[in-house]
Amino acid sequence: MEKLAAVKGMNDIMPPESARWEWFEEKVRDLMGRYAYRNMRTPIIEPTALFVRGLGEVTDIVEKEMYSFDDRLNGEQLTLRPEATAGVVRAVVEHSMLYEGGKRLYYMGPMFRHERPQRGRYRQFHQVGAEALGFSGAEIDAELILLADNLWRSLGLKNVRLEINSLGQPNERKAHREALIAYFEHHVDLLDEDARRRLYSNPLRILDSKNITMKLIVESAPRLIDFLGEESRAHLSKVQNILDANNIVWTLNPRLVRGMDYYNLTVFEFITDQLGSQGTICGGGRYDYLIEQIGGKPAPAVGWALGVERVLELLKEQEQVIPAPAPDAYAVVQIAADLPRVMNILQQLRERGVCVQMHTPANSIDGMGSIKNQFKKADASGACYALIFGSDELLRQCVGVKSLRDSKAAQIEKPLEAIAEWASTLQSNC
Ligand code: ATP
Ligand code: MG
Repeated sequence: MEKLAAVKGMNDIMPPESARWEWFEEKVRDLMGRYAYRNMRTPIIEPTALFVRGLGEVTDIVEKEMYSFDDRLNGEQLTLRPEATAGVVRAVVEHSMLYEGGKRLYYMGPMFRHERPQRGRYRQFHQVGAEALGFSGAEIDAELILLADNLWRSLGLKNVRLEINSLGQPNERKAHREALIAYFEHHVDLLDEDARRRLYSNPLRILDSKNITMKLIVESAPRLIDFLGEESRAHLSKVQNILDANNIVWTLNPRLVRGMDYYNLTVFEFITDQLGSQGTICGGGRYDYLIEQIGGKPAPAVGWALGVERVLELLKEQEQVIPAPAPDAYAVVQIAADLPRVMNILQQLRERGVCVQMHTPANSIDGMGSIKNQFKKADASGACYALIFGSDELLRQCVGVKSLRDSKAAQIEKPLEAIAEWASTLQSNC
């Protein structure tokens, strides 16, 4: 029969690779807890209107990257989430969560965008995101940046730089928009097809173009930062002061605009030069108008999202060693008839926290296989100890314990009726 393959741009995450993911997720959970950000989970499918309204109609995501479909049963227009902020906001509004004050939240999970698959760019990819809703002060923008920076350090990630910018407020953007249109009209010959199409609908988006032939014209375009009023400038410098006080190095990138329309004031990206053209590992900013746009009572908010695949790829690039999971002990079993009893003993060990892998032949009716072969498997499992359940040992109500890592250590015996007394000695990290 013809073999079926995964959808293009969507990856299976299998062992041993999945251990890196679990390690990473554990670090994230731990760190989010230290900043008192609480986990939330929203559906992977949302009404299409949520993204059209939330992200903006004239954005790469909404124009060409969404997996949208009609529900066959009731005709509802649905979309596989391309990002999670809109869903978080929808849920927070739906559950009136800002009623008793601001909320610090985080999520992790798969996102879907129909992009051209390449290194660091997939059609199903994963994000971790942190969102602080209901707070307007610059200190929370800075807290989120500090949190991300701390995450890089706890992962052992190096060579990540921080770029920041301010997108100001809508009225400031309006003045800039006019200047931008005038400027691009003047250079219309140099614009690519996308840019021409967006010239009047969303000229700011042109600054986010990935087309390198437009680099020059984009670089000399009017800068939004020059159109900012006093309040917007003060907000940005407050963020910068807090970063400085925390020795976080940043650069101001006046062309940083981000891919969604919902941002205002602070925007930022963490970028590396070690992943080729997919160098942005994390991006975020303030989105004070999104909650209202999605139908909630107006409230400020700020957040970021990181790309898990890119972060893990960068860790690999930097040859960061991530502990591979291994059992504490590997159970070598001489005869299959002893399995019921042996499995009961292993069960007791696991209840006491010991990680034990049992030797399992493809078909135990043919026997357990030679002890030599079992020891080979035990060694390959990475376990510290072999537990030897020979018929002799079992007759004497004992199990043999042999270190797999210290060849000089002699095999010893432990009494089965006193598991509680020695189980924990198997948990030494070797
Ligand atoms: P890019 O400019 O690389 O397309 P973006 O601005 O579209 O990124 P965001 O929507 O801000 O990205 O998402 C936050 C992060 O998610 C990105 O910085 C990146 O690390 C990751 N990311 C975005 N799209 C993809 C993708 N298709 N595959 C893998 N990771 C992605
Ligand atoms: Mg993109």
